[in-house]
Amino acid sequence: MNTASMETNPPSPWQDTPAKSERIVCAITRIASVLRSGAWQFATTEGLNPTQVDILEALRSRKDGVRLSWIAQYLGVTAASASDSITSLTAKGLIEKGRDSADGRAVALRLTGSGHDLAARISNSVSFAHDAVSELPPSTQEALFESLLALIGKLQQSERFPEIRACVTCKYFAINRHPGTEAPHHCTLVNAPLSVSLLRLDCPEHDPAQTAVAVQNWQELESV
Ligand code: SF4
Repeated sequence: MNTASMETNPPSPWQDTPAKSERIVCAITRIASVLRSGAWQFATTEGLNPTQVDILEALRSRKDGVRLSWIAQYLGVTAASASDSITSLTAKGLIEKGRDSADGRAVALRLTGSGHDLAARISNSVSFAHDAVSELPPSTQEALFESLLALIGKLQQSERFPEIRACVTCKYFAINRHPGTEAPHHCTLVNAPLSVSLLRLDCPEHDPAQTAVAVQNWQELESV
């Protein structure tokens, strides 16, 4: 009898290590919660709640203003919840209501000068994260950006991620127009080639592509 076959292997000291996918999600969750608590700690001293912070940050790069329904969808909250926060921000003089440039009958919400100042200070409150990322080697930053982009693409295709104003979902995005080059993609709005490292996740000029085109772009991006 082969005695070796009767021996049982000792338990590996790593057998309880969670799967890599679990550890990646854990890492992302921890980073997100550290960033959120950094911004919220600052905002609490200004008398703001988390939704109000998110609204100020969302409006910061949208100088033309946005509608209430857009904010609710962007933040993944109900229109009633967004409306309460906007009423409060308006009363504090941080948001103003004006005409929507695309439809004069609709109301667009914009930051006031004070709103812009506060949104900039909220952003600065997490500058430690920007510093940490910039200290990573350029190749690591590149790989991290591409990996996060791929993950966002997967989540978007499973409809578990709210709409974002990313190049990949934009009607001006021409994927792989310049194959085999450093900048294989193209933005037809400014008529210029786009490298992967310059792809935007929140572009003010974004105009949504048809859903089928966006899905195809996400899928093709994985293979470019
Ligand atoms: S308009 Fe903005 S989001 Fe659209 S492709 Fe050009 S850079 Fe990207």
